[in-house]
Amino acid sequence: MSAPVYLDYAATTPVDPRVAEVMSRHLTLDGIFANPASRSHMPGWQAEQAVEVARRQVADLIGADPREIVWTSGATEADNLALTGFMRANRARGRHLITSRIEHKAVVDTATALEAEGVEVTWLTPDRDGRIAPQQLRAAMREDTVLVSLMAVNNELGVIHDLAALAEVAHAGGAVFHTDAAQAVGRLPLDVTRLGIDLMSLSGHKAYGPKGVGALYVRRDPDLRLEALIHGGGHERGMRSGTLPTHQIVGMGEAFTLAGREGEADQARILAQRDRLLAGLEGLEGIHHNTALDVAVPNILNLAFEGVDGESLLMALRDIALSTGSACNSASVEPSYVLKGIGVPRHLALASLRISLGRFTTEDDIDRAIEALRHAFTGLRRQTS
Ligand SMILES: *Cc1c(COP(=O)(O)O)cnc(C)c1O
Repeated sequence: MSAPVYLDYAATTPVDPRVAEVMSRHLTLDGIFANPASRSHMPGWQAEQAVEVARRQVADLIGADPREIVWTSGATEADNLALTGFMRANRARGRHLITSRIEHKAVVDTATALEAEGVEVTWLTPDRDGRIAPQQLRAAMREDTVLVSLMAVNNELGVIHDLAALAEVAHAGGAVFHTDAAQAVGRLPLDVTRLGIDLMSLSGHKAYGPKGVGALYVRRDPDLRLEALIHGGGHERGMRSGTLPTHQIVGMGEAFTLAGREGEADQARILAQRDRLLAGLEGLEGIHHNTALDVAVPNILNLAFEGVDGESLLMALRDIALSTGSACNSASVEPSYVLKGIGVPRHLALASLRISLGRFTTEDDIDRAIEALRHAFTGLRRQTS
């Protein structure tokens, strides 16, 4: 049996072999393994230098200054630091936070936890495509709104937010703008200055880097303060303590350089593959698009297969690795809160699959997926009708 076709790049990407090679040089005695905070010897300085090169690589991709990058354990921690760290540090200025119902759980659950601390959260309901319109945000802004958090690319739908327009509205109302850009790296240009972003969450493993590392971009501004969530040695300018994982960090740095160099070409190839997939499914009745193709990244496609349930479909698709809803809630059979949030009816939400393509997807993978999807869907439909 051949290995399953991997079409779950939105859950995680494999590490690019070029990234793995750089990482492997930062682990063992003959490599750069020392503690980057060790100031008393050459191996420590070398490790620090490797971390700083990677910090610049990440900063360069988003048009930031390296001093604006805070290493974290992933985008989850970056989201926690952005929301909780900011709301706590700005208690005196205001307690109102605006976000949306279809953010990643790392934002949704953090905002919910903040409600218990007395933060007031406005949960915007997106339109049918999954987007928040600037005028909708404007209407929700209040005198005491201090933070707006809206994601760049939705991880279940692939839909893209107009960050520049949303950030402008947030700023006009005197608030700071945070975006979770975990799914946007290598998929979209992400210049923080042009977009007007104040805080941006990033992840290594959604962009061919390793799991367990991420970063928060924090715009340099004396008014933009965060309260640390993790206390210790005062690393990362006091914002995030903990010994820096050099191998993870250099991996993320290399991955982000590759994203800048190859992201556009990747996306062009993936667009053609997505269209090949859609063409291959043409003629099948009962396929509904949850992803609004004209406002989405080409690598994520969320489809409902009417009349079957997603779990049975997944079972019938053993040779294809993909997700129902998002990986984080695939353990439960409740429909995805994201699909619910954009108004997909329950029976269709439960019949939905997320197909996500990536750098290593081949035309042969697409053809195998088409064949398997057609076979599974028509087979299950026959059983249920
Ligand atoms: C994967 C993902 C996260 C979580 O990132 P980790 O690095 O795994 O913590 C957060 N937000 C979005 C949009 C994601 O896709």
